[in-house]
Amino acid sequence: MTEEIEKIQCPCGRIIDDPEEYKVLYLKHELREIDILCPNDSCYLRELGYIKFEIKDGKAVFKEASFYPPFVTWNAGRLGFEIAEKILKSHLKEIAKRVDWVRLGR
Ligand SMILES: [Zn+2]
Repeated sequence: MTEEIEKIQCPCGRIIDDPEEYKVLYLKHELREIDILCPNDSCYLRELGYIKFEIKDGKAVFKEASFYPPFVTWNAGRLGFEIAEKILKSHLKEIAKRVDWVRLGR
């Protein structure tokens, strides 16, 4: 039962059970930024967060990652701040693992 409650949700209503479900967009390469998008194509928020990176010796290196306030606040309101923060942090970690760092460095 607790498992049912402790699920991350986008304000659009989409439950994000697994960090694999987020979409990542590599369009802002010059800005050294990757967008994290809601899996729901008709989401009104679309961008839920970002990952920033640096290029060092021709390699992309993780700099920082964060979710935007509307998404964090929504989940903190549902789950409580501590639980939401804990789950969202683990989601960011998983998303960063999925990033193709080699490809980014090119
Ligand atoms: Zn959404």
